[in-house]
Amino acid sequence: MALILDGIQIRDQILQEAKPRVAALKRPPGLAVVLVGEDPASEIYVRNKIKACHDLGIYSEKYAPPTSVTTAELLALIDQLNQQDTIDSILVQMPLPAHIDFSAVLQAIHPSKDSDGFHPFNMGQLVANGPGPRACTPAGVMEVLRRHQIPIEGKRAVVVGRSEIVGKPMALMLLQANATVTLCHSRTRALADECQRADILVAAIGKPAFITREHIRKGAVVIDVGINRVSDPVQAAAIFRNDEKAMANLKVRGSLVVGDANPLDMAELSSAYTPVPGGVGPLTIAMLMMNTIYLSERRQA
Ligand code: NDP
Repeated sequence: MALILDGIQIRDQILQEAKPRVAALKRPPGLAVVLVGEDPASEIYVRNKIKACHDLGIYSEKYAPPTSVTTAELLALIDQLNQQDTIDSILVQMPLPAHIDFSAVLQAIHPSKDSDGFHPFNMGQLVANGPGPRACTPAGVMEVLRRHQIPIEGKRAVVVGRSEIVGKPMALMLLQANATVTLCHSRTRALADECQRADILVAAIGKPAFITREHIRKGAVVIDVGINRVSDPVQAAAIFRNDEKAMANLKVRGSLVVGDANPLDMAELSSAYTPVPGGVGPLTIAMLMMNTIYLSERRQA
């Protein structure tokens, strides 16, 4: 029977360990969150981030410019936050409206206040194995593996998805932990064959239940980063093989949260896996808190 890698338990451990670090600082760490527009999912994420700050004693500020905000106005806000002493960490919630110059915004955040580690300087630090904040979601995956003592060194790791925020930094972090890493994407030929070689398979694709039994080697560890909503009953029935409980949940809730790997295939074939929800998701906020504390410690040293 596969081991379920419980992200909620690990999140709670990490947050517990963070408390003395916050208490040891002269002033509380400060996080500024910028949420542009009214995307309901982003509003929930931001609310959860601010609540996590509150629970840990981290000072937070929220800025919510309207969708009509210009890139120049956003850059001016970031500049103001870069200079504000009480703020150690700046997070701009993605996605941004299409008219905003996304990379100009990311590059405007001072690398010493880069809560997500997305600034090119910090991405470079990751490549060079230097110090700096690391992208939260892949850093959370590394915590899951480490805290469950899943061996990485010498293992074959396959990451599917090469985004700047998940896939690419994930591959680099696994490489630094001495895995032999293959990074796959939409142009990869014979994806299932590549995945079948994995001791550790990470799915970060953005397509519900895309990774199936043909991709999963028996006994592999599967990390499912995906968060997708499925509301079509036919699609849900196919993914959950008409499982009564899942179909009843769909009826009540109107949609189901599904990862990028088929949950039944993953449970059946893997030796250990992260469930969706309750796997990688809870760790992203915990790692944001850790980055904020780390940046604050550096600024207050
Ligand atoms: P992106 O859309 O930015 O990237 C998706 C990647 O998947 C791309 O590299 C793309 O390849 C690749 N891909 C798409 N289709 C295929 C295919 N048919 N075969 C192989 N590769 C494919 O997504 P993100 O990285 O932002 O997110 C990935 C998933 O993780 C999503 O489900 C998202 O919701 C979830 N997520 C979860 C978080 C959490 O806290 N748990 C945080 C962030 C994301 P190409 O580059 O060639 O286009």
